[in-house]
Amino acid sequence: MKSFIHCDRNSHFPPENFPFGVYEMNGEKSICTALGDYVIDLKALESLGYFDEIMNKDGKLFSGVSLNHFMSLGRVISRAVRKLLQDLFAESNPKLRDNPGHRNMCIIPAKRVRMVLPVDISGYTDFYSSREHASNVGEMFRGKENALMPNWLHIPIAYHGRSSSVVVSGTDVKRPKGQTRPDPEKPPVFGPSKQLDFELEMGFFVGTGNDLGESIPAGEAEEHIFGMVIVNDWSARDVQNWEYQPLGPFLAKNFATSVSPWVVTLDALEPFRTEGPKFEKELLPYLHTKGNPTFDINLEVSLKSETMEAPYTICKSNYKYLYYNMRQHLAHHTINGCNTRTGDLMASGTISGPSKDSRGSMLEITWRGTEPLKLPSGEERKFIEDGDTVIMSAYCENKDFRIGFGEVAGKILPAD
Ligand code: MN
Repeated sequence: MKSFIHCDRNSHFPPENFPFGVYEMNGEKSICTALGDYVIDLKALESLGYFDEIMNKDGKLFSGVSLNHFMSLGRVISRAVRKLLQDLFAESNPKLRDNPGHRNMCIIPAKRVRMVLPVDISGYTDFYSSREHASNVGEMFRGKENALMPNWLHIPIAYHGRSSSVVVSGTDVKRPKGQTRPDPEKPPVFGPSKQLDFELEMGFFVGTGNDLGESIPAGEAEEHIFGMVIVNDWSARDVQNWEYQPLGPFLAKNFATSVSPWVVTLDALEPFRTEGPKFEKELLPYLHTKGNPTFDINLEVSLKSETMEAPYTICKSNYKYLYYNMRQHLAHHTINGCNTRTGDLMASGTISGPSKDSRGSMLEITWRGTEPLKLPSGEERKFIEDGDTVIMSAYCENKDFRIGFGEVAGKILPAD
């Protein structure tokens, strides 16, 4: 595809993408999409009548300062909007191309705006779906023989996270304080976490949910999914280790979760569909998925300390390594009749791969601090230090273009 707006070959936002987000400029927020190095104001385009064929004047596609209303309209609508945008911005279409007045109202250089949290997040659930991650963590804590818990190959494990502390890329994160027990022979102590970690994850937003008492079958799950973002599920390992039994993570996880600002639709990801791993145990029928249920998305984590000039890559992984896929996540989450709502965020769990350089957390990269990471600045890291910035990026690529997510970055500030 070619647009009258220039896009570099390596741009994350070619006309094949058209992700959705919310930007702020001069104190005002609006709903937007991205094309090359520009954001396109979709509320402005709507007010100029460009979406009249999808939604007549009585209804609005874009209202409020989050994507929630648009998401609640369902995938038929978001698909139609994306198609219309691809047509409207095509190089050969003069409609907007030759209307400088309208172009000035809608097209803004991305560097002039600030991206904000795109969704008013209803609930946040975090899965634990990477076999490699679960095995690595299990091996560290329970030994190689008992690395995977007996339930893991049968059931997608998850916990309910906290939506109030989900923040957008660029938001600083204060080091959490909490209760830990560094010496098992002594009473617990209180103070700033000494084992602050990141978790490389991807998440999806529910567009249209299900009623209480109903379930979403795996085969219909994707019609309920609006799109995906990159997720950094910050974790305080020392707090986690002391608090997690018997109910799972609590304060070790809910102090902050960072997400990337652009929500990439499953329609944009369609060319990158791929099969997932083979299931070692026969799954119960409600978890069966047909065809290619996952996506080939390159993932990268880099770290920049305050003394470094450029970020240093510390992990390269891929979304396709996940054992359980999004369809299974949504089917499992609702199989008991739990209702989901527009704006629910469901994250994958840390996405580690088979090789050492594809480990998606410091816990695994440094093997619980026993193999410190050497940075190009000469510094060493066991976990994340104050002043460090963690940057995650994600994109799909074929011979013609990239479909990217941009990045999610977060800097750690000292505890006060
Ligand atoms: Mn997590």
